[in-house]
Amino acid sequence: MSEKLSPEHMSVGEAFLRIRSEAEQAAVLGGREPGSVTVMAVTKTVAPERVNEAVAAGCVLLGENRVQELLDKYESYDLRGAEIHFIGHLQTNKVKYICDKVTMIESVDSLKLAAEIERQCAKLQKTMDVLLEINIAEEESKSGFSEEEVIPAAEGIAEYPHLRLRGLMTIGRPDAAEEERTAYFTKMRKLLVDIAVKNSHNISINILSMGMSGDYAIAAREGATIVRVGRALFGEREYKKSEIQDL
Ligand SMILES: *Cc1c(COP(=O)(O)O)cnc(C)c1O
Repeated sequence: MSEKLSPEHMSVGEAFLRIRSEAEQAAVLGGREPGSVTVMAVTKTVAPERVNEAVAAGCVLLGENRVQELLDKYESYDLRGAEIHFIGHLQTNKVKYICDKVTMIESVDSLKLAAEIERQCAKLQKTMDVLLEINIAEEESKSGFSEEEVIPAAEGIAEYPHLRLRGLMTIGRPDAAEEERTAYFTKMRKLLVDIAVKNSHNISINILSMGMSGDYAIAAREGATIVRVGRALFGEREYKKSEIQDL
């Protein structure tokens, strides 16, 4: 087996165990149980065999950004009970391809998209867990709801019988200084409390998906229940030329 090495010459499995242990220790620093944070393996551009190495090491959650890539790789995954969340920008005309393959759509960034997920999941008689994607740094170039839009969006989702709102997701500002990123994570935690309180009958609004390769430990300390890690686990991504335009 020609094993490709992850950063610092670790195998994917070793890198996964190290990242999980760091995230768990950070959660403990933040006053939570080690098991309160799950490390998601973000698989974009990564060959399925290497994704399977992460699963073999104990990774229970995969994150997919692109519909076509998910469809191409799906049959090659050896999931062993691991779940797949969709985390990329999702066009409404592609929702129908993924509803039977993912257990959560973390990147709900419009009520139009929510309506289409409802339509497709009604057909499948499936209830889909969803997160609202928040544009916490209010960047023009990023999709997602603003802070002011979160409560109305949560109320909108509550109208859909086949959607179950579980929490919030953000990309944040991975390029910002540490203090600024920490402030965004804190804001996210407060927003989650806001929507959970409004939905006092629904105790299952408790997921906060935030933190990536550069800041998963900070995010875990600040309350993330899912950290989404790509490069720190698999190494730098190698994009095909044809893919670069639609990043
Ligand atoms: C690519 C990606 C990640 C992981 O980014 P890394 O910097 O490789 O850890 C996390 N979340 C989303 C939505 C992504 O697209």
